[in-house]
Amino acid sequence: MDMNMKPIKVAAFFDFDRTFIDINSGYLYARFEKANKRINNTQFLQSLLWLGLYHLGIADIDSAYSKALALYKGTSESEVKEITEKFFSRDIVSRAMPGALRTLEYHKRMGHYAVLITNSSPYLSKLALEEWGFDHRISNLYNIDTQGRLTGEFERPLCYGKGKTLRAQKFAETEGILLSESYFYTDSISDLDMMENVGLPFAINPDPKLRRAAKKRKWPILNWKH
Ligand SMILES: [Mg+2]
Repeated sequence: MDMNMKPIKVAAFFDFDRTFIDINSGYLYARFEKANKRINNTQFLQSLLWLGLYHLGIADIDSAYSKALALYKGTSESEVKEITEKFFSRDIVSRAMPGALRTLEYHKRMGHYAVLITNSSPYLSKLALEEWGFDHRISNLYNIDTQGRLTGEFERPLCYGKGKTLRAQKFAETEGILLSESYFYTDSISDLDMMENVGLPFAINPDPKLRRAAKKRKWPILNWKH
């Protein structure tokens, strides 16, 4: 055996919304913010529209995200963290899919690197990492000014579509992970590009478009629902 040969590092990437949990957290968050009167009815309906388009993979996600985040411009990061903590423990923590928890446990036993990869906020994804014990999370990141307030700007590209793949590739390169040996679990056609860039893609409770794509490519289709 070549003693210089490094062991192969494998990752298991998990999408969050409708994959690891059984609902879109963005929808729940918009509802939560409306109930707390931080957004009004129009903004709430607008966010539902964006989320619908997002789910179909046809939204201009960058401009929709800009508009959504602009609502928080000038809000202190610590306040947003606090709001997110409340939201997380009230609405999210109970929504992990049984199949997701089993699969995460399996990968940890196998010594794989468990990675949450999501279009959700840096605050929500960090709480999810801590709650379920992921090794790492890849999410959207927000710009903060010198006073500790959100500027409304964010890191581009968003962790969505091709942007998700790019971030996973960068991460794999840094950590010495082989994507060709790695797993990816997702529900959405918007993640097709990332699925095509890992060795072991799995469609989880997929939307109709992803179901068709997975069947065509003979990718496994699993049901993680309760
Ligand atoms: Mg999803």
